[in-house]
Amino acid sequence: MKSPLLGEFHPPNGKPHMLGSIQRIETPMHRFSEGEEVDYVIVGVGAGGGVLLQRLARAGFHVIGFDAGPFWDTERDWVSDEKGAHNLYWNDLRITGGKHPLAFGANNCGKGVGGGTVHWASFTPRLHPSDFRIHSTDGVGVDWPISYSDLKPYYELMELELPVSGPSYYPWGDPHGYPYGPHPMGGVGDALIRGCTKLGIGVSAGGPVAILNGSRGDRPHCIYRGFCIQGCKVGAKASTLITHVPDAIENGAEIRPNCMVSRIHVGGDRRVLGISYFDSEGRERFQKAKAVVVAGYSIETPRLLLNSACPGFERGLANSSDCVGRYLMAQAGNVVLGRFEELVRMYKAPPAHALTEEFYETDPKRGFARGFAIQTVGPLPMAFARQMMTAKGAWGWGMRSVMMDYNHWASFGFLGEILPHAENRVQLAEEKDRLGIPIAKATFNLYDNDQKLIEYGKNKTMEVMWAAGATEVVQEARYAHLVGAARMGNDPETSVVDQFGRTHDIANLFICDGSIMPTQGSANPGLTIMALAARTADYLIREGNEVFTSHKPNDQKPPMRRDLSPPDTWGHGMPRI
Ligand SMILES: Cc1cc2nc3c(=O)[nH]c(=O)nc-3n(C[C@H](O)[C@H](O)[C@H](O)COP(=O)(O)OP(=O)(O)OC[C@H]3O[C@@H](n4cnc5c(N)ncnc54)[C@H](O)[C@@H]3O)c2cc1C
Ligand code: SF4
Repeated sequence: MKSPLLGEFHPPNGKPHMLGSIQRIETPMHRFSEGEEVDYVIVGVGAGGGVLLQRLARAGFHVIGFDAGPFWDTERDWVSDEKGAHNLYWNDLRITGGKHPLAFGANNCGKGVGGGTVHWASFTPRLHPSDFRIHSTDGVGVDWPISYSDLKPYYELMELELPVSGPSYYPWGDPHGYPYGPHPMGGVGDALIRGCTKLGIGVSAGGPVAILNGSRGDRPHCIYRGFCIQGCKVGAKASTLITHVPDAIENGAEIRPNCMVSRIHVGGDRRVLGISYFDSEGRERFQKAKAVVVAGYSIETPRLLLNSACPGFERGLANSSDCVGRYLMAQAGNVVLGRFEELVRMYKAPPAHALTEEFYETDPKRGFARGFAIQTVGPLPMAFARQMMTAKGAWGWGMRSVMMDYNHWASFGFLGEILPHAENRVQLAEEKDRLGIPIAKATFNLYDNDQKLIEYGKNKTMEVMWAAGATEVVQEARYAHLVGAARMGNDPETSVVDQFGRTHDIANLFICDGSIMPTQGSANPGLTIMALAARTADYLIREGNEVFTSHKPNDQKPPMRRDLSPPDTWGHGMPRI
């Protein structure tokens, strides 16, 4: 698609370069000339890639971010309509299999600058300290090569950069407070709080969620119109498209939208040389780079590494461990729906605004390891209709009557930790996409611990819905949030990257997205992905030119660069209430 993007910054009057109506960019985007070698190519400008791009640009590196999807103009491209938002997702063909197959499309990754953060609900809880050592403490999964304390300062920084609104005291994991005060409750949040309170379950009201409850910089506060998952046209919800990408461009980064990276090239010295990509006209091109970072999401990242197989790397790049594609994880994401006599109007608030992590940690009495969270979800009518079809078998007149009743329903999401398993994996299929690139095939099975956890968590979520006063409760089984498939670890025989995202096999090839997570806890992954990206950035910046020349990884922790945050980070917002 050739797209005359406002994001390409050609306003008619030549005045400030616009990114939709919300974000203003004062400088034209830098264009690297054809054939020019850049320091870094980043494949994918989503949660991880967007944060990394911004920091590398601020630190003065020559960097290009490639994204297979468009550079969104928030004003022109986003609509307050469920059907009209379908183009935000990665809808290209993928093959899914196994005993409990994953569904692709709207429920996983994005395609376009901002990646999944364009359509995420923006719940932003942190992982718990226990998540980093579940093998040591619970005998399941694997330990991370880093601890919670390594990531904590980056969590705090990302909570300021997005920023995150939430309660002043959040009691779970490592108790902490949020920089912006909590949001008011919608009808679904009220129901969750009522149900939890009745059962004596602690519950957090009004966040943590990356949505402004006061204006900041040129972003306005939330107006509670409930279209977060369709891309927040208002700009109150954080996405890297509006929080990090403008600053990256101001600092000299180039973004090449509608460019699908098809292969990473490696030279005779086992170092990356650059990438091939199909541009927006479908022409295949080469971009030379001193280092490459893959940030394409847990399906496309392993796909690209596997598709880049070449002499010396016959199993795919960075795959001497045979771990590329393996240990793919999804969180169990059953949706529980309850009907109330009174009006709920679940569209009238951000879907994400209240949750409990009371069941997050292992409780031996429950008969399975690890746990789950319960969160508000506010499906709009089309999503609700689909859920009613699976949960209740609604069809024909039954569907019509349940849809007329939409305003009386509330929905809670149960978010459960599924453990990493080697056989849950991404491989290449025989089939190819329209550009001739082999597509991804995912295999997914639930194991004993996963099934027990889902059964318990689903029932507990239904119990909360009944306790809230519902007169009918139904549920739909589904998954949420894919991570893993290129996990980090200290041992090159059992992991793909080290603690900084550097592949064990190729010194100038990095991964910076959710695929490096060794386990996932039952926190939504976006904040963790961004915190890891900021840590990788500090590492790359400290290493400087060593990344481009040395074969020897340095595993010393880098100093934290708070000075690289986007300008509004230390600004003011609505004071805490
Ligand atoms: C409906 C929904 C709600 C969600 N809500 C939440 C939430 O409340 N909280 C939360 O934390 N998370 C949420 N998530 C998940 C969150 O969006 C993802 O975990 C996160 O965006 C993943 O980050 P990433 O960096 O791994 O990849 P992404 O953000 O998906 O970015 C990957 C980018 O890479 C690009 N790309 C891929 N391959 C190529 C290639 N070969 N060439 C060029 N570009 C490429 C893609 O176009 C995409 O833009 C939600 C997801 C969905 C679907
Ligand atoms: S509810 Fe708030 S954050 Fe969500 S789309 Fe509307 S204005 Fe944006």
